[in-house]
Amino acid sequence: MRIPTSPFGAGGDVTVLNPATAEPVAVVPLADLAETDAAIERAHRAFPAWRAVAPADRARLLRNFAAVVDSHLEELAWLEVANAGHTIGNARWEAGNVRDVLTYYSASPERHFGRQIPVAGGLDVTFHEPLGVVGVIVPWNFPMPIAGWGFAPALAAGNTVVLKPAELTPLTAMRLGELALEAGLPEGVFTVIPGKGSIVGERFVTHPHVRKVCFTGSTSVGKGIMRGCADQVKRVTLELGGKSANIVFADADLEKAAASAPGGAFDNAGQDCCARSRILVEHTVYERFLELLQPAVEGFRVADPSQPDAEMGPLISARQRDSVAAYLDGADVAMTGQTVTRSGFWLAPRVVLPRGVEDPVWRHELFGPVVAVLPFTDEADAIAKANDTEYGLSGSIFTRDVGRALRVARGVESGNLSVNSHSSVRYWTPFGGFKQSGLGRELGPDAPNSFSEVKNVFISTDS
Ligand code: NAP
Ligand code: MG
Repeated sequence: MRIPTSPFGAGGDVTVLNPATAEPVAVVPLADLAETDAAIERAHRAFPAWRAVAPADRARLLRNFAAVVDSHLEELAWLEVANAGHTIGNARWEAGNVRDVLTYYSASPERHFGRQIPVAGGLDVTFHEPLGVVGVIVPWNFPMPIAGWGFAPALAAGNTVVLKPAELTPLTAMRLGELALEAGLPEGVFTVIPGKGSIVGERFVTHPHVRKVCFTGSTSVGKGIMRGCADQVKRVTLELGGKSANIVFADADLEKAAASAPGGAFDNAGQDCCARSRILVEHTVYERFLELLQPAVEGFRVADPSQPDAEMGPLISARQRDSVAAYLDGADVAMTGQTVTRSGFWLAPRVVLPRGVEDPVWRHELFGPVVAVLPFTDEADAIAKANDTEYGLSGSIFTRDVGRALRVARGVESGNLSVNSHSSVRYWTPFGGFKQSGLGRELGPDAPNSFSEVKNVFISTDS
């Protein structure tokens, strides 16, 4: 396996482990503060020329970048299997998502229209001006897609980008940085800086040339970033945690709801901010639903992530596995799924019956393969229980009643809902959280707007 190189190293290095085996994969040199400042400075110097690239040429460069990602799709996917323990099926989807998001936003430079607004005495037009250097901070759970959701629309809008991957999972981002150069993006336009959150990530917040921070990760770090950005009134997008509800009504296709629930909760070993980690079942079908859920949980294929039929691999680290496992101490575990018994950070999926809505398993984001199930009485109770959380990222509603599906979808305080499915993030549609799940939206047709400022210009027609 080809390991990408890093031009940094003054910040020491980190040994990246394969979560499926706990064996080292690579030693990655990290940037220190001075190297981070120098990279931000290069991105700042690259900005005027990049914003001046003609729209059709910027579009072409992004399409080239997408094509180069496409021709390295297998390499990127296998790198992610080794670095993050993602199943090969998921990892291929993730590399393909980077390609698709680049392609989607490559259409934007030629279509990032301003407006012509009727006014007296002249002509009034608006422009979308790029911000400058955008800092993207990425977590370890979806290293490739989350990076792309930040850098693709930011580059399309004419910004230069510095990107900090998570220390645990820097490899695919570093490779994407190399592929960008191979695709013809000018030096300094897209720079991947492996390093510590407390050094590189923090510097994105404090460096005056970084004009926006696009952060995905924990709610606690996100709050600190928002506070830090206030000092310079720095633009910020936050994608934070979740504790999303999967609401199953008695009139639903219960077989389908039960068969799909493990995927909604355990995909990526539950390390997904959109995981449907709370299942709410109408009380009249609660027992029946649990009966149907059992074979689905036990059949959920936990295996070496390089196996083509693996549905779940290991957790990212010993620390993450231990933090999730701690919640199982003394919990009422109703079902236990498959696991792999060998070295590596493995944990079998679990279905837990919480003691009530105050149970930490029901309230906290565990970020692991644990799902909690509670009954509800009626529609109002389902909405109230779904909303009884500080989070509001995602959720699902299973019912055959279209009116109810819409009422409940409107009632749940959450940014992304799916009916009779567990929709993953779609790049064509806006993605983001209500309440403490985040601030702002990523993806969808409007993403380039959040990487630009509206400028209004009035031109007098007085003679
Ligand atoms: P985290 O600490 O929030 O890390 C996310 C990213 O922010 C990483 O790149 C991290 O760098 C960086 N970072 C950390 N401290 C920073 C700071 N002070 N300033 C700027 N950047 C900083 O998340 P985590 O520790 O990896 O995971 C902890 C929990 O967060 C998880 O158990 C889960 O509940 C939640 N989480 C949510 C998401 C999501 O998609 N919403 C993703 C991951 C985690 P380092 O890698 O160097 O620490
Ligand atoms: Mg952390």
